[in-house]
Amino acid sequence: MTADTEFMWAADLHTHTLVSDHAFNTITEMARAASEKGFWAMAVTDHGPAMPDSPHRWYFYNLKTLPDRMENVWVLKGVEANVIDAEGTLDFSERDIRLFSFDWMIASLHSDIVKPGMTEDECTQLWLNVAANPAVDMIGHSETPAFRYDYDAVVQEFARHGKVVEWNANSAVVRPGGEKNLWELARACKKANARIAVSSDAHSIYHLGVFDTVLPILRKLDYPEELIVNLSRENLVQELKRHGKAIAEKMEETL
Ligand SMILES: [Zn+2]
Ligand SMILES: [Zn+2]
Repeated sequence: MTADTEFMWAADLHTHTLVSDHAFNTITEMARAASEKGFWAMAVTDHGPAMPDSPHRWYFYNLKTLPDRMENVWVLKGVEANVIDAEGTLDFSERDIRLFSFDWMIASLHSDIVKPGMTEDECTQLWLNVAANPAVDMIGHSETPAFRYDYDAVVQEFARHGKVVEWNANSAVVRPGGEKNLWELARACKKANARIAVSSDAHSIYHLGVFDTVLPILRKLDYPEELIVNLSRENLVQELKRHGKAIAEKMEETL
């Protein structure tokens, strides 16, 4: 990977549809845009119930009735769950997680839910607890400036527990001030051999698959391609298998 490397991305694993009130396109429009931009797969990951704009729980229950492939793209039926307290508790019960059987669960910390002001040690403990949660597939935008934690110590645990660490391309826009943290997080990921995903966190078709703000970090750190789970179809299928997702077998047949 060099400074000029052009990436051919297989998937975008963090996107919102208009069931989150502050996003603008339907799932069909997002899938069509992903297809037109050359993606093989995407995840729809609308907000869990602690957020004011979360859809009704029936939405999460009903996601599984949609086809696995929409508009020629594999659409992972996912969620962006909220961490709701300093213990790292999520806004879905274990029973609901079984019931909804998400293809992709992100755990994110939003300052609308957990108020900033925690110490670095408290944030470190919070993420260590999330790392140990078997339901979580990816750690969302954890470089957010309001909640600094010990990147080296925690990323090791993310890696040990097989959590994908997200490098969120939307953070530079909506969570300014975290750029330095993202570099630190990225370096900790490389040191720990952590698997990562680069995501758009798109709230419309226009930003889907737009990863520009984090690409310089990938290039500068010469991040190993086999550790970037959304870079190739094979990487993604292997990752979904590691997380025990039934959809991986079907996807594998179309590699
Ligand atoms: Zn978020
Ligand atoms: Zn999001």
